[in-house]
Amino acid sequence: MTFLDRALAGADGDWMYRFAASLYPICRSITGDGVRATLRAVGAHLPLTIHEVPTGTAVLDWTVPREWNVREAWIRGPGGEKIVDFAAHNLHLVSYSVPVRARMPLAELRPHLHSLPDRPDWIPYRTSYYDENWGFCLPHRQLEALPEGDYEVCIDAALTEGSLSYGECLVSGRTTDEVLLSAHVCHPSLANDNLSGIALLTALGRALADASPRCSYRLLFAPGTIGSITWLARNRERVGNIRHGVCLSCVGDGAGPYYKRSRQGGAPVDRAFAHVIATRGRGEVADFFPYGYDERQYCSPGFDLPVGLFERSRFGVFPQYHTSADDLSLIAPEHLAESYAMVVEALDVLESDRLLVGTRPHGEPQLGRRGLYQAIGGDAERTDRQMAMLWVLNLADGRHTLLDMAERARLPFRIVRETAALLEQHDLLRPA
Ligand code: ZN
Repeated sequence: MTFLDRALAGADGDWMYRFAASLYPICRSITGDGVRATLRAVGAHLPLTIHEVPTGTAVLDWTVPREWNVREAWIRGPGGEKIVDFAAHNLHLVSYSVPVRARMPLAELRPHLHSLPDRPDWIPYRTSYYDENWGFCLPHRQLEALPEGDYEVCIDAALTEGSLSYGECLVSGRTTDEVLLSAHVCHPSLANDNLSGIALLTALGRALADASPRCSYRLLFAPGTIGSITWLARNRERVGNIRHGVCLSCVGDGAGPYYKRSRQGGAPVDRAFAHVIATRGRGEVADFFPYGYDERQYCSPGFDLPVGLFERSRFGVFPQYHTSADDLSLIAPEHLAESYAMVVEALDVLESDRLLVGTRPHGEPQLGRRGLYQAIGGDAERTDRQMAMLWVLNLADGRHTLLDMAERARLPFRIVRETAALLEQHDLLRPA
């Protein structure tokens, strides 16, 4: 069994979906008990180390913020009934809202209420991390119908000296070459933008441990921006081992696939994902831009790590993005499984790409005499395998890697890799 076969054994879409669904009700933010509960759930499946970094710790140009936890938050209308309740949906409360206990007329409350006029039935997702403020989010249709009168507002939240939590898991391979795999864990009840990446990364971590990989894999489950900045600040001396990396987000729907290159642009991970998307015959590959998820931090100029971003729907573009409509109906087991397979196919390139040289470069070797025509016949990939054999023999001049060959031949890397292994068995190829 190859790395690819072993890693693909973890492509259990139903499991990933169920795991995402189990995490959906939890109120996460950039700090607090929701992140801890999420990391503990991940840690039930992986040897995860949970790090706690105290409030006030200087991390690069940032400071670890106070920890935020909510007990309850609601608004009572003029009639005394709860019209908005955090217990009903955690998106109702602006994340990092400061504590409030007050009565006020609608005009005073109104600036603290957020809605989406063009999506009147959805609750928006809003945060106020680095600005002391408070607010509630609700469907625009409900906001429009609020009567004049006095409203009672309660946000029983604590902003305290605590810590920022992130989870880290190292799957050791045969070499110290590291692959950084990163997912953000700071969004509350949002399925595609948050939970899909967490579920895929957890499933992948379980499978990698059994895949006897060449590379070592460092899995990071951290709150967006401040979490990756904190990790980078505490691991400056370690980042030199990172050869490849990718952030995973929005991997639970059927759009795309989409890959955003690292800042380096032509790193092996960039070529690997571009190749996987090209062989799928659909999807998009974009150049790096300094907006998005934690690739922004990994690709800041002082680090300039080869870390890209893999998604299905692009963040900020799909209509449900950062709204209550990014719920469990937006993601599906088959899409999670397909995303998983694409990531593993890209990792297979990083695991297996190598230089080979042909032992009989003068004229084509006689394949029939060696039984190689029989070996390649008989399956649905027959034509691809036949072409792969000719391409590999032709390009195995010690200057083209297997990925170079796969790109040039427009054939899946797996077929080129398997063909090269077969030719090696027949002493027609050797390591360069
Ligand atoms: Zn987001």
